[in-house]
Amino acid sequence: MTPSRFISVAVPRPLEGLFTYRIPQDSPEKIPVGSWVEVSFGRGKTHAFVVEPEKSESEIPKDLEISKIKELGSLHPEVVLPEDVLKLCRFASDYYQAPLGEVLNVAVPAASLGLRSKRQEAREKDWDVARRTAGKQAKVVELTSTQNECVKAITDAASSPTDSSAPFLLHGVTGSGKTEVYLTAAREILARGKSVLLLVPEIALTPQLHERMETGLGVPVALWHSAMAAGHRRDETAAIRSGKIRVVVGARSAVFAPLRDLGLIVVDEEHDVTYKQEDRVRYQARDLAVFRGKIVGCPVVLGSATPSLETLERVREGKYKRLSMLDRVGGGQLPAIEVVNLCEEPRIHGIQAPIAEKTLNAIRDTVARGEQVIAFLNRRGYASSLICEDCGDVPQCKKCSLALTVHKKSRLLKCHWCGYQEKTPDVCVKCHSANLNPTGAGTESLEEQIPQLLEGIRVLRLDRDQITSASRLEKTLDDFRQKKADVLLGTQMLVKGHDFPSVTLVVVILADALFSWPDFRAAERAYQILTQVSGRAGRASHHGRVLVQTFQPDHPVIETLTGKSSMEDFIANERNLREVLSYPPFGRIARIRVEDEANAKAQKMSEALVQGLGTSGGAIQVLGPSPAHIERVEGVFRWDFVIRTKEIRSLHQAVHQVRKMANDKQIEILIDVDPYGMG
Ligand code: ADP
Ligand code: ZN
Ligand code: ZN
Repeated sequence: MTPSRFISVAVPRPLEGLFTYRIPQDSPEKIPVGSWVEVSFGRGKTHAFVVEPEKSESEIPKDLEISKIKELGSLHPEVVLPEDVLKLCRFASDYYQAPLGEVLNVAVPAASLGLRSKRQEAREKDWDVARRTAGKQAKVVELTSTQNECVKAITDAASSPTDSSAPFLLHGVTGSGKTEVYLTAAREILARGKSVLLLVPEIALTPQLHERMETGLGVPVALWHSAMAAGHRRDETAAIRSGKIRVVVGARSAVFAPLRDLGLIVVDEEHDVTYKQEDRVRYQARDLAVFRGKIVGCPVVLGSATPSLETLERVREGKYKRLSMLDRVGGGQLPAIEVVNLCEEPRIHGIQAPIAEKTLNAIRDTVARGEQVIAFLNRRGYASSLICEDCGDVPQCKKCSLALTVHKKSRLLKCHWCGYQEKTPDVCVKCHSANLNPTGAGTESLEEQIPQLLEGIRVLRLDRDQITSASRLEKTLDDFRQKKADVLLGTQMLVKGHDFPSVTLVVVILADALFSWPDFRAAERAYQILTQVSGRAGRASHHGRVLVQTFQPDHPVIETLTGKSSMEDFIANERNLREVLSYPPFGRIARIRVEDEANAKAQKMSEALVQGLGTSGGAIQVLGPSPAHIERVEGVFRWDFVIRTKEIRSLHQAVHQVRKMANDKQIEILIDVDPYGMG
């Protein structure tokens, strides 16, 4: 009899460790690492990943009883996890303190194995890009000397394996031609037979970008995001694995795309917070991209007009190399930014949003000249809340500790946190007064009220209530580009990379709404968003103007934007603050959250964990536990504590200790290493 063979696999569940199975006697070949198998698990079946070579009987864990080991189900010998992706997953599992199987489930979702699709087999799609892009001429531009130098630095690094390990920061103002640099460098890498990965913020993933990439590169490009239909994902993944597709453009999960011979990774808008995954495995795709570049030995380019403090710090330490593009292509000027002091400027009455007369006049004049306006307000809905003028009651979400937002058209009060909604009441539930008034403006009320103030003005709205699909987004942007409206009004959604040549005025309705984010990155983020919004003005030859309305004209972010103080000073200040408080990039932090439907229980459990953790002789600091910024979500109470250390090693040790305690005490915890937003 041949000796038994065993294999340990990772199941796509949030469970620690690997699970060992017996390999059927009649399976002849070696099971390749990186392939997948079917196994019985618990009472059901699941797919699972082969992450280690086979074992003999003497190599399996001592605590397993050989006779009880179950046999494997079906084998799927195709490698779905290339070596570098598996390494990346192991790294992510260690770094973010998440079970390997759970990470693998993010990297290789069931859909990409054909498990969620009616057809098992991949369909041979039309990857003939020449035909698909026929007639669409790639816009050929002659690069400026600065652009050429950047391309050369990147492609040189790609040919020198010793030099390719230091990531680049491509620091270029909006409109400086960063995308052309990516495209030119990518063409060169493709010509060398290698593949290219471009990460973009989720919202930038549009058919328009796809087309620009395909025509610009002349090869098929896979557009990769979390909302892909299962069958589509199956086909694209198969084409990427086989090397038929050598370019992937995608949101954060694309960092795991199984591209072969990766030759270049680009992370556009590297500072964007959407690179941080906020549930399950809480990874930072930009950081993982840097790590993948290291594994593969290919250059990583982080592009931004407003780089994150983390990235700037790496440049300062000499770990990253900075490439600067300080001018707009064609000499287009950066817009002049003016502050509108809402405490002093005369305001328009009869409108919920604070709008200064000066601002309204600027909108009127711009439109009269046949030019367009972008208005930015960081809050959707009609009003931020409903208030009873008689008793002061503000309707709250029944399940979260948050005020409900008024949505007028749908006559609903909505919770923007959990999605709960209810009909807008006619009278106050507390005192039965009919004196219920919406307070605070949202995009919906502005959309209604701007045309009341400026007759004949046409407004388009862009926010998550309005834009429910990619095609809707594209249509709205197209309509605006074709001047079917004068004003485009929206939330963060309109901030990203869209090019509108006729926009010469950008209005920030209320900058203050960005300053109150419960996060040590709030100022940095406000600065990034406001810079990006401002960059929408005057992209072509027109001179652009930006009006930033605020109640805090001397806030450091505002002073930096207007040039009253320098960006270097702003960064230096933020840097100092973080250094003093040991926040990233100086200290390392992890947030541990305990949730329970009973508040007291959540509190007790988190206190027990903090007590058990101690402070290891001062090597770690623990902040909390305390109720989360939003204490209750969907009926569940959340208690947080934060572990802070100087070094990542001691942070990992501490988190590991917490995991072990939680496991012993059967407490479920949510771990967030390098958290964003303390809410
Ligand atoms: P960024 O990504 O830095 O915001 P883009 O690469 O999108 O900038 O460039 C902004 C605009 O300038 C685009 O319309 C682009 O086609 C154009 N452009 C970029 N580089 C050049 C160049 N060297 N010559 C002419 N036009 C250029
Ligand atoms: Zn009342
Ligand atoms: Zn809610």
